[in-house]
Amino acid sequence: MIAAQLLAYFFTELKDDKVKKIDKYLYAMRFSDETLLDIMKRFRMELGNGLGQDTNPTATVKMLPTFVRSIPDGSEKGDFIALDLGGSAFRILRVKVSHEKKQTVQMESQVYDTPEDIIHGSGTQLFDHVAECLGDFMEKQNIKDKKLPVGFTFSFPCAQTKLNESFLLNWTKRFKASGVEGMDVVALLNKAIKKRGVGTGTNACYMEELRHIDLVEGDEGRMCINTEWGAFGDNGMLEDIRTEFDREIDRGSLNPGKQLFEKMVSGMYMGELVRLILVKMAKEEFLFEGRITPELLTKGTFETKHVSAIEKSKEGLTKAKEILGRLGVEPSADDCIAVQHVCTIVSHRSANLIAATLGGILSRLKDNKGNPRLRTTVGIDGSLYKMPRRYIPESDVRFLLSESGSSKGAAMVTAVAYRLADQRRQITETLAEFRLTNDQLLEVKKRMRTEIQNGLGKKTHDSATVKMWPTYVRSTPDGSEKGDFLALDLGGTNFRVLLVKIRSGKRRTVEMHNKIYAIPMEVMQGTGEELFDHIVQCISDFLDYMGMKNTRLPLGFTFSFPCRQTSLDAGILVTWTKGFKATDCEGEDVVGLLREGIKRREEFDLDVVAVVNDTVGTMMTCAYEEATCEVGLIAGTGSNACYMEEMRNIETVEGDVGRMCVNMEWGAFGDNGCLDDIRTEYDRAVDDLSLNPGKQRYEKMCSGMYLGEIVRNILIDLTKRGFLFRGQISETLKTRGIFETKFLSQIESDRLALLQVRSILQQLGLDSTCDDSIIVKEVCGTVSHRAAQLCGAGMAAVVDKIRENRGLDQMDITVGVDGTLYKLHPHFSGIMHQTVKELAPKCNVNFFLSEDGSGKGAALITAVGCRMREQEEKS
Ligand code: ADP
Ligand code: MG
Repeated sequence: MIAAQLLAYFFTELKDDKVKKIDKYLYAMRFSDETLLDIMKRFRMELGNGLGQDTNPTATVKMLPTFVRSIPDGSEKGDFIALDLGGSAFRILRVKVSHEKKQTVQMESQVYDTPEDIIHGSGTQLFDHVAECLGDFMEKQNIKDKKLPVGFTFSFPCAQTKLNESFLLNWTKRFKASGVEGMDVVALLNKAIKKRGVGTGTNACYMEELRHIDLVEGDEGRMCINTEWGAFGDNGMLEDIRTEFDREIDRGSLNPGKQLFEKMVSGMYMGELVRLILVKMAKEEFLFEGRITPELLTKGTFETKHVSAIEKSKEGLTKAKEILGRLGVEPSADDCIAVQHVCTIVSHRSANLIAATLGGILSRLKDNKGNPRLRTTVGIDGSLYKMPRRYIPESDVRFLLSESGSSKGAAMVTAVAYRLADQRRQITETLAEFRLTNDQLLEVKKRMRTEIQNGLGKKTHDSATVKMWPTYVRSTPDGSEKGDFLALDLGGTNFRVLLVKIRSGKRRTVEMHNKIYAIPMEVMQGTGEELFDHIVQCISDFLDYMGMKNTRLPLGFTFSFPCRQTSLDAGILVTWTKGFKATDCEGEDVVGLLREGIKRREEFDLDVVAVVNDTVGTMMTCAYEEATCEVGLIAGTGSNACYMEEMRNIETVEGDVGRMCVNMEWGAFGDNGCLDDIRTEYDRAVDDLSLNPGKQRYEKMCSGMYLGEIVRNILIDLTKRGFLFRGQISETLKTRGIFETKFLSQIESDRLALLQVRSILQQLGLDSTCDDSIIVKEVCGTVSHRAAQLCGAGMAAVVDKIRENRGLDQMDITVGVDGTLYKLHPHFSGIMHQTVKELAPKCNVNFFLSEDGSGKGAALITAVGCRMREQEEKS
């Protein structure tokens, strides 16, 4: 018993002694922490040189831009293979990103069955199977001879949380291959793939901020950089750590003086390094009792796979005996222990050096992100290495295992390209529904024309969706209007009361005083009496404010909801729209409701002369300045238009002479389902949750009140699918109305840097990455683009109808426009104008911003109304 223990002790001593000697012997291959940190710093410096405009030409680490961006922008191209293991199925994909005008991502994939016995079999079997399938795929794709970059994507979470545990693969899902957990998967995979003759090397790619890449235009987002770190040291930077063995390998290589770092760390040279060490040790009679055989002296006889085999703690010594036996050196047990230790030192050095350079990249990423703890994905290909955690800054790193087929290093690009391409494809697909073709827009225009016809026709009016309400405004102002008028503006975000003083004659002036009053939500959606009492209360306040309680002024009531008018001063509310829902109003004459409210208060009297739609007010205001204005357009909370129609075409009103302005109420376009083919699931979701489901479908696609909501619904969906906000749907994102249309304007502003977009999202409570903000910006742009185009298609129908009314081949016309969406959105107006131009080429349409149509316009209409009344009284 005791003897056995003694014996064991003796052997341990012996082993330790030998190990110590070798440690001393290979002293130069074992680095202190300081040295490794120093190498990390040197590599960081080389990274910087590679990225800089002036330093790149002479830099050794070339930092090649791959043009694979965090968000593909159409410049990336390539042909890649991606292996996707860990999802519900094992897929192999070929991703072709082409560079033609219409950037396409072509993907062909095949799902391979992974038999149960393989899933639960040995790791070697599993990876052999993977390689087998890859071979099959390449054969079927006819790319056996092409050396396409191959990327592996593993989705087994636990394996990827910590740097020093990255190599431990925790099987999840249905995978349970034995002998893999706790193993170096990179090596396993490499081994399997290498059987198929794929080369080795070492390199790393990572995502660099575009603003740091001098060689590429653009500042926003990130691009995958292929470091080509194999060349690290080619400028002499690593001379102090290179050993005589490294130099010998380099001298005997095909490219002396080149790829010096690679020659120290990559699997391709590991076996050779060990062999050279063994030769020297044998020569010095430190090993094999000085026996040197021709085999031992032959280049390539000691392979890298032998290094890994010998390193294994259990069967490693047996392996050593076997392998060395084949070289004819007759190793003793001692020799085997020694050789095992040499192998360990060589591969540890490789691991340490890679850890140091990776550390350089990670610390750079950390600085880029300005984030104390970063989560990132690093693509590694090549040999086996263990990552001593202490050299790496505090980070969560997910390893993407990858192997390059052709040029070293394209590997990571594959995985990233594949993931991004796939994600991109899905996002593009989602947003594609919002991109309307010219034909679709022409179709929208045509349908609008049909609905206009229906609204005007006597027989079709009742069932029509676009109601084409007569307004009893028969002419635009002629400049003779004058007097003091009150105007009310109800129908959008704010309620306003105005005093408008119009002076005629040579120096026409319009002077306005106004006060804005909020209408609380409870009032908007309470009873009709409460609503009108509130309105009258505001008027009372305004009259006090102006000191005019006792003057009975004529009043124009801008009431921007669909009204059936029977005269200038009578309008029956057909249906509430936008945010309003007060009871007992629909079907009532709103002028009557207002007069009753004034009576109830018994405080002042007013002469309500006209009820005015804001579109009409807008047209009138503009026409007062610009005689060719015969169309009004609103792009604000809601969307609507009006224009001067021939009396003979308005079958719902008696008389055939002259023109009358019709309030189209085009927001309801599509309520009969005629736009359903272009509505998306997001439009339906917004509609379903609105106050008036199924109503105002066109308006819900193009007005300020809804654009933000459409965006929010898309963002929720993209988040659910894992493309945004790390897949986390925050409470904020769940909140209806949180994403106001004004944010679209801000986010889409060209002057805004991505960082600012991010901060807007941050303010909204949406914690976003840079990539998130790129996607959000794209979503906003897509939604507002469609809105502007749809609005333009409607307008094209209107102007073309007017042109045809007048039998003109070509027509000049002015459209008066109002609405904050039109005024403040950076692109809406431009896209809308362009659409009208394209869809109605025979009309030369001039858009005229109408300031305060609801106030001034209402006063002008009231003035016209007063004049008409006087004329009637006279006759
Ligand atoms: P209304 O149509 O209610 O009379 P506006 O024309 O001012 O009033 O439009 C208000 C609507 O404009 C809001 O409901 C909002 O959706 C939208 N909006 C507000 N600010 C902006 C902005 N900066 N950019 C685009 N749209 C905006
Ligand atoms: Mg308005």
